Amino acid sequence: FSAERIRNFCIIAHVDHGKSTLADRLMEMTGAIRKGSAAQYLDKLQVERERGITVKAQTVSLVYRHRDQKNYLLNLIDTPGHVDFSYEVSRSLAACQGALLVVDAGQGIQAQTVANFHLASEQGLALVPLINKIDLPAAEPDKVAQQMADVLGIDTSQVVLTSAKTGKGMHKVLPAVVDQIPAPQGLPEGPLRMLLFDAFHDEYRGVICLVQLVDGRVTKGDRIVASSTGEDYEVQEVGILAPEPYPTGVLLCGQVGYVVPGIKSIKAVRVGDTLHHFKKPVDPLPGFRPAKAMVFAGLYPVDGEDFADLCKAVDKLTLNDASVVVKKENSEALGPGFRAGFLGMLHMEVFMQRLEQEYGANVVTTTPTVTYILDFGRGETQELERPSDYPLDKKVHGVLEPTVLATIICPSQYQGRVMGLCQERRGELMEQAVAGQDRTLLRYILPLSELATDLYSEMKARTQGYATFDYEEGEYRLADLQRLDILAHGKPVDALARLVSRSEVETLGRSILGKMKDMMERQQFDIILQASADGRVVARETIKAVRKNVLAKCYGGDVTRKRKLLDKQKEGKQKLKRLGSIEVPQELFPELMKAR
Ligand code: GDP
Ligand code: MG
Repeated sequence: FSAERIRNFCIIAHVDHGKSTLADRLMEMTGAIRKGSAAQYLDKLQVERERGITVKAQTVSLVYRHRDQKNYLLNLIDTPGHVDFSYEVSRSLAACQGALLVVDAGQGIQAQTVANFHLASEQGLALVPLINKIDLPAAEPDKVAQQMADVLGIDTSQVVLTSAKTGKGMHKVLPAVVDQIPAPQGLPEGPLRMLLFDAFHDEYRGVICLVQLVDGRVTKGDRIVASSTGEDYEVQEVGILAPEPYPTGVLLCGQVGYVVPGIKSIKAVRVGDTLHHFKKPVDPLPGFRPAKAMVFAGLYPVDGEDFADLCKAVDKLTLNDASVVVKKENSEALGPGFRAGFLGMLHMEVFMQRLEQEYGANVVTTTPTVTYILDFGRGETQELERPSDYPLDKKVHGVLEPTVLATIICPSQYQGRVMGLCQERRGELMEQAVAGQDRTLLRYILPLSELATDLYSEMKARTQGYATFDYEEGEYRLADLQRLDILAHGKPVDALARLVSRSEVETLGRSILGKMKDMMERQQFDIILQASADGRVVARETIKAVRKNVLAKCYGGDVTRKRKLLDKQKEGKQKLKRLGSIEVPQELFPELMKAR
């Protein structure tokens, strides 16, 4: 295939608007997979199926015969479907010249539609607008087309109407891709320049890199170099994804496919990197930066004896995800564990869920925190990943915290509630606009740490699930924060320290202690809990010692009730986690995340 008969495109959509179903249909129509063989072929992991999000981007090459009776090679690049992966989304977009912009005919445009639209426009992609699910009784394609025109400036006459479920309108999709998306423009005879836009780990071949050939060609046996590191590799295999890896021996200018560089660790490759031939350097493609962890949390085995098993599980899981950074750490309060850094909240949740589901690990996770920058004055700064490392003996002039630029779309009737919530969470309103009939679009700068403490579910709760939310990375900004410590029997518990807004120190201190008091069991002695900020005690609680036997509550001879109580007690005991001088139930940790 010469470059003029190649199209590289992706599908961008809000979650559940039908991206995976559309991709399946396109693969069936072109014979890449058998009809009905696999629902949502591209979503491979169990968590992805469950949560309906794509975690790792997958790619497939389709051969399509156009109305000009010529075959076209269409490379469909499946972008990660979530904001946490926005850097990876933008790298995948960089491998494309166009995108299908899919909107649900019943739901209309949502926050993720708008955020992805902006990313795609910034990359200069040609957009093919598409309204899916026109079979739904609630479908209002005309109204949705008008929204797309009003909010995104789309020409309504260009909109393709489909039902990926019934197949209606599907025959119009690929012709629109060929007609409206430009062919990749590169130098077929120029020096090799390829974009590495994704990588995954294969048990047999090691790391598999997904690439787009911007200029030149790559052949099996070539020696290639990664621009960012200068490391060189011998290409052991090249091919296309159809959708399984299919060796072709060569990839030409404009094509999308994979190369196997013969390395074991995914940590050695960097998404967004430029690869070139040995001793033939090229100007690297723009926009490369190493993935940066934004949210950190401690992971500890519930039972300290399971630490070795946890190590193995974490090792395996990070084999396939270069964006998780893990360091072993020893907490005074929780014992041996890990400090793990994630791209965002969902990334962390997915990781935790996989750790439990796929590796049976039983872990507690401490309240996630973000990376702060401490300013000591005179140009001296320090990154702070662990609140308990916040210095108490050195004057901090200012604390800078990371922010996000959030896009929110909600029915106009909930606008007041959403704005109230964003204000409570220290948000700064950037834009307020109409998004179709009775709907409002809001753009806010919000502290990333507020996302780490349940902002999104609170927003859902206050809008009966109608608000949609998406964000891009923002800048660091100055914040008035203080270190809050929780003390058990007068001693600070390192794992519970956090940085909080000065005005919230007291309420938050009280709320955390309240939750601990509610969930902890009484002991033979009084348990004394305190919250302190900068050496000042802002809240205290005492959990009184048990005076009577638990069974004394069950007067009379109800044996089954007694047994139940004893069983319950035993069960409770098994899930206790030692936290410094006290023991707390495992369930306390997620509750603390929600403390306000
Ligand atoms: P994604 O999150 O964008 O990948 O969305 P999915 O492809 O997973 O689809 C979300 C849900 O919508 C699934 O239950 C699909 O079966 C359903 N769906 C997808 N396309 C259509 C369609 O054209 N009509 C109807 N009625 N349902 C659809
Ligand atoms: Mg999907």
